[in-house]
Amino acid sequence: MPELPEVEVTRLSFAARIAGARIEAVLMGKPLRWPLGCEVQQLQGRRVQAVRRRGKYLLIDLSEGMLLMHLGMSGSVSFGLNLPAAGKHDHFDMVTSLGTLRLHDPRRFGAVVYASGEDDAVAQKLLGRLGVEPLSEAFDALAFYQALKRRKTAIKQVLLGGETVVGVGNIYASEVLFLAGIRPTTQALRISKPRAALLHHAIRQVLTQAVAKGGSTLRDFSNADGEAGHFQLDAMVYDRAGLPCKVCAAPIKSIRQGQRSTFYCAHCQKP
Ligand SMILES: [Zn+2]
Repeated sequence: MPELPEVEVTRLSFAARIAGARIEAVLMGKPLRWPLGCEVQQLQGRRVQAVRRRGKYLLIDLSEGMLLMHLGMSGSVSFGLNLPAAGKHDHFDMVTSLGTLRLHDPRRFGAVVYASGEDDAVAQKLLGRLGVEPLSEAFDALAFYQALKRRKTAIKQVLLGGETVVGVGNIYASEVLFLAGIRPTTQALRISKPRAALLHHAIRQVLTQAVAKGGSTLRDFSNADGEAGHFQLDAMVYDRAGLPCKVCAAPIKSIRQGQRSTFYCAHCQKP
């Protein structure tokens, strides 16, 4: 499943190239997770002004209205002037004066949704509950600590929930908690201010590195046919159950939390 860094790298891969493009046609394939919400003809003639990101949504600002694109479980985006004819897993083609933007999504959990603006009900339904952006100035260490104080849930669940800070998915949640030395099962409200600061720093560090790494493997990622995989992550704990911890050599443990796998080192990560 594409996580925040993959979505951000996807954005960086076409945002500058599509800016200013005039929409010539929009072609839909099989139904995606949600309907487009407008007639495709309505989009014709509008211009793409910018591509932003909020959580795992790509926000494509048009001269009138916007498109919210989500990659779902298996979506990937390509943009170019000479794309091959749409295949059976290509479900959204936006043909513009500067190239075609295509959503390839074999499992069809992704979506492209039209909204008149970020404040309208359609957009708010998708974006309204999202927490602060981890790579933005608004992600403040003290405010993060105070938000954790209000949550009794295990810290891993709080991170995955996306309401406190958005975009820390399952892989990165295990990694940032290792980096911060915090046991994933620790109740969020029991995390001290200094430890919350470590976690805040770890979140920014891990996600920033993943985006930077993605930038260097962009070609492979955007050409991914079918499975939009994760970037090669030098995981410290994720998917390393039973293997020696890279810091202390104790075997990495694996548990289930909310039906998702969690990996941690019982020696390096304190409750
Ligand atoms: Zn360890």
